Amino acid sequence: MRIAIAGAGAMGGRFGDMLSHDNQEVILIDRWEANLKAINTRGLIVNVSGTEHVDQIVAVQPAQVDPSEHFDLVIMFTKAMQLDAMLTDIKPILHDDTMVLTLANGIGNVETIEKYVPKENIIAGVTTWSAGLDSAGYISYGGEGIVQMQAVETGKANQVDQIVEVMNSAGLNVTLTDDAIEAIWRKAALNAVLNPLCTLLNCNIGNLGKTTTFSAMMDEILAEFQQVADAMHVPFDVTKTRNLILAQLPDEANGTHYPSMHQDMLSKRPTEIDYLNGYVARQGESRHIPTMVNRLITQEIHAMEQLVQGN
Ligand code: NAD
Repeated sequence: MRIAIAGAGAMGGRFGDMLSHDNQEVILIDRWEANLKAINTRGLIVNVSGTEHVDQIVAVQPAQVDPSEHFDLVIMFTKAMQLDAMLTDIKPILHDDTMVLTLANGIGNVETIEKYVPKENIIAGVTTWSAGLDSAGYISYGGEGIVQMQAVETGKANQVDQIVEVMNSAGLNVTLTDDAIEAIWRKAALNAVLNPLCTLLNCNIGNLGKTTTFSAMMDEILAEFQQVADAMHVPFDVTKTRNLILAQLPDEANGTHYPSMHQDMLSKRPTEIDYLNGYVARQGESRHIPTMVNRLITQEIHAMEQLVQGN
């Protein structure tokens, strides 16, 4: 299968590495010139539990891809706030039969992709695979994971089944689900609790969970998610989400882990806050639902981004 991965950071690199090792024809598309240069001169270096291998994979700027080239699948692995710009750039290679998959975090990615691609060509979901970007052209694998995904509309079942087969052959543990939107909201709500609170309080997940105010903060964030989800007719279950969050707290789960937003802040990079708490705050505002908690958290994270970036 011909696969383009748009966004060649930690996750794009990991999926690209796994798929190309399974003999799929993969190219990476990225806008970060230093990353492209590193990958094209010495290969993508992949660190798996301390052992490195080099993946000779082609990486190009969006404008370098010939529009007549045909890809069966494009996997979007930018950060949520880079998605629109990347789709604008790669629009010439999105043909009628090109399927587009998003597994990025945050809410609203499907709406963004729908501006460029018919709904029946979009597959959306969540993944628990993880990876880190150590430097340009150098990634480290996190632990093992799974992918749960669903076509946004029926109509391309054959293509979807083929994609699942190819991804599973590469070891990506994919299952089709009938509740991808619920899974996306649940993961976003988990991230909306753990990411900004650990970032603002400069602590890991376990220590956040040990504070006496954690439970109340979590419940206030989730209550607003529930109200907005109800108004948008999106299935959302606070109890399930709460249990999922609590399961992350022990050290043997993710207690010692600092969420990616904390890392983004340390690296002075923009965060995905507008697609987590910020999404719920915006949707709440436009529907006259009070979402003060998520709005304040969004404002605090944006203020922190400006302070660390020296703006
Ligand atoms: P990433 O930051 O590693 O890469 C995303 C994009 O940013 C890539 O195009 C990359 O080239 C670019 N980029 C990274 N550093 C840059 C720099 N210094 N200068 C210029 N460009 C730079 O993001 P990721 O971790 O691969 O995440 C992609 C999506 O997947 C996000 O929505 C994320 O939340 C989600 N996700 C990540 C993980 C994980 O373990 N990393 C797990 C599940 C979901």
